[in-house]
Amino acid sequence: MNEAIEKTEKAGKVLRKTKEEAVKLIKPGVKLLEIAEFVEKRIVELGALPAFPCNISINSDAAHFTPRKNDERVFHEGDIVKLDVGAHVDGYIADTAITVDLGDHSELVAASEEALNSAIKAIHAGVDTAELGRLIDGVIKEFGYKPIVNLTGHGLQRWMCHAPPTIYNFSTRRGVVLERGAIIAIEPFVTDGTGKVVERNEVEIYSLASPKPVRMKQERELLEEIKQYKTLPFAKRWLKSASDLIINRLVRSGVLRAYPVLTEAGKGMVSQSEHTVIVEEDGARVVT
Ligand code: MN
Ligand code: MN
Repeated sequence: MNEAIEKTEKAGKVLRKTKEEAVKLIKPGVKLLEIAEFVEKRIVELGALPAFPCNISINSDAAHFTPRKNDERVFHEGDIVKLDVGAHVDGYIADTAITVDLGDHSELVAASEEALNSAIKAIHAGVDTAELGRLIDGVIKEFGYKPIVNLTGHGLQRWMCHAPPTIYNFSTRRGVVLERGAIIAIEPFVTDGTGKVVERNEVEIYSLASPKPVRMKQERELLEEIKQYKTLPFAKRWLKSASDLIINRLVRSGVLRAYPVLTEAGKGMVSQSEHTVIVEEDGARVVT
């Protein structure tokens, strides 16, 4: 078995257990930060490392929310919670998400789950990603909802959370043919809103975009501290001394990339289901 598949499977196993345990802890009144810290610690205990900060996007927020340092925010009755977690072993990443319904959103959750399952069932070596998009779109529309068109599934490569190919959650004329051994994440997002996400003014997640020489001492110290994450996303709360001034300077100069919270443009509710799978001759092996 090749190294990429072996290590992705190990990361996937760690993630599956972590996700199962975390889901049980998500309840009204519990702090978001408690769940994020639990997930990130558990991944390490089980023998992997977080591939990105634990994402906990609630209601109209679809992606890229992670709590800040000393965040006091809690889950509320009625919330629809997207828990999106990633782990890596030696840079080989597994990525998975589940929606936890603390309210009355069971149809929305069923739509993203069924859309994901129908795509996974259709995967085999030689399948076109356009076919997966068509199936996902079909299931979501049958439920009477919309896919979010600017959030997609993707390939996974070493140290790269979002690698080609892009796997759209709607019908496209042409896609990419998946080969045996490809490692991909399928992740339909479903909404009762407009079907598009926009950025909102909150950023807690960053990654190294292009390392260039920097002049200020604090900038150099920050780059030294984030070296360990290579090109993987990290949370501001993971940093020892995270001055917004320094971070924003590095974003402006293109050294860091910022990931603002992505929220549904029409304030619709959002559900998400995601698995990492390995493409096989006659099917797909789900690793998460
Ligand atoms: Mn994910
Ligand atoms: Mn993903």
